[in-house]
Amino acid sequence: MPDPTRPPGPTIISVANQKGGVGKTTTTINLSAALVELGYRVLVVDLDPQGNASTGLGIAADDREYTTYDLLLGDIDIHDTIQTTDTKGLWIIPATVDLSSADLEMVANEKRSFLLRDALRQRALDSYAIDFILVDCPPSLSLLTVNAMVASDSVLVPLQSEFFALEGLSQLITTVREVRHAANPHLRIEGIVLTMYDQRNNLSKQVEADARENLGELVFKTVIPRNVRISEAPSFALPVIDYDPTSKGAVAYRALAKELSSRKRVQNG
Ligand code: ADP
Ligand code: MG
Repeated sequence: MPDPTRPPGPTIISVANQKGGVGKTTTTINLSAALVELGYRVLVVDLDPQGNASTGLGIAADDREYTTYDLLLGDIDIHDTIQTTDTKGLWIIPATVDLSSADLEMVANEKRSFLLRDALRQRALDSYAIDFILVDCPPSLSLLTVNAMVASDSVLVPLQSEFFALEGLSQLITTVREVRHAANPHLRIEGIVLTMYDQRNNLSKQVEADARENLGELVFKTVIPRNVRISEAPSFALPVIDYDPTSKGAVAYRALAKELSSRKRVQNG
């Protein structure tokens, strides 16, 4: 059910998992690009001080004049923070290492959990006619991630197909519940996507079986394989669907975009 108190606008999805290296940034970049290929207009918000999503989408560090730091803590129009990418229909608000001090600076603000939500509600965003905003979260359950969840309709969780993958998930789900209770009652878990899946590895199969048994429908049917093309693409500042359109990685992220957008239609319809 859409929130009637909320103005109509893009569907906002946080890509979150407090573990590092599980595929958050990779999924943000490639799912966004695949959604654009389906005809949607997408904005990526880089909320990780490492700025990997910004780099991966071709925004060099020197070109990040206004960033998510300014969006959260500066008195700045969102328009000035949005940059075009080489993909038409895909925009990004980049991040720099400045963002690493944002948590501390936000604490003093009484609206500290609502800064991203309020920034993304600026009317200046309307002219972009964005369909989806994907927020690439840092590897923590910090105030930055809480800001992402408060601003979002849903949380998409990449889960690396490794031993201990499910560990930590209950903490993430607890945070989602807390945010729901305190600030954003409509926050949903969009789904859990298995990443870096190795078909020949029994461990991958076991993680998948465990995840499907414990989490059921929450787990996307689409699984993202471990694929070298996916890991090469960022150094060419390209999404994998452009870097190698027929690679297994490209095929998988296209399937994920289709699955996500068809789920969305079902839920809204
Ligand atoms: P996170 O944002 O969660 O820290 P990343 O998306 O940066 O994780 O991924 C961590 C590393 O794993 C990166 O070097 C990335 O290129 C690589 N990687 C991610 N997904 C895949 C995949 N499906 N196949 C191969 N390498 C991957
Ligand atoms: Mg990352």
